[in-house]
Amino acid sequence: MKAIILLGAPGAGKGTLAEGVKNATAFIHVSTGDMLRAAIKAGSPTGLEAKAFMEKGELVPDEVILRIVGERLAQGRPDDQYMFDGFPRTLEQARRLDDVLAGLGGAVNQVFLLEVPTPVIVSRLSGRRICKGCGAVYHVTNIPSKVEGICDQCGGALYQRPDDSEATVLNRLEVYQRQTASLIDFYERKGVLVRVNAGTNPQAATAELLSKLA
Ligand code: ADP
Ligand code: ZN
Repeated sequence: MKAIILLGAPGAGKGTLAEGVKNATAFIHVSTGDMLRAAIKAGSPTGLEAKAFMEKGELVPDEVILRIVGERLAQGRPDDQYMFDGFPRTLEQARRLDDVLAGLGGAVNQVFLLEVPTPVIVSRLSGRRICKGCGAVYHVTNIPSKVEGICDQCGGALYQRPDDSEATVLNRLEVYQRQTASLIDFYERKGVLVRVNAGTNPQAATAELLSKLA
């Protein structure tokens, strides 16, 4: 089992890059944020547990995250290749992921750190719009849909994620610095960290990532 990780602040473009990589490779995209939003939509116990944390921009407790990821990996096959997006986000999650992968005969092969200047991040997040129907991601100025408020791909309505409001965005960035940024060091020491300039545009960032994929 092969695994790569997309690491970076909220708004670094993990989800957008993941789409590009998924289309060009055999990686299975595992986004804990998407899984949690699906759980909330479905009204499942996990969703109920996660909702309040997400709305405030806080991290969902490690046990919840490790349970949903564990369940997902348990459905997989030995030769699956995973691309984690938004996971791990704490040292505890990273250590437990190592254990789970080791148990499946795998390891974290590469960790792509998406580097973006903070002002760019704030503008990306506050302008981000998501399709209710298919989850496609737009931006009011950077990636507008052809018809305002309507998804190009499925005709669904576009909305702003509740945690993309300005106050919550600032809290998410602080949470990233406090809880997630230490993973940079953790993976650098293991020799698997790969830096990607994600501050320009999605095409360039995706191409750079693909060129560095081992
Ligand atoms: P972003 O990276 O832009 O913040 P995500 O969709 O990855 O977007 O995450 C949205 C929210 O979901 C986070 O703010 C957090 O509350 C929760 N979440 C997602 N993944 C994790 C995780 N691995 N650990 C804890 N909380 C998570
Ligand atoms: Zn759509």
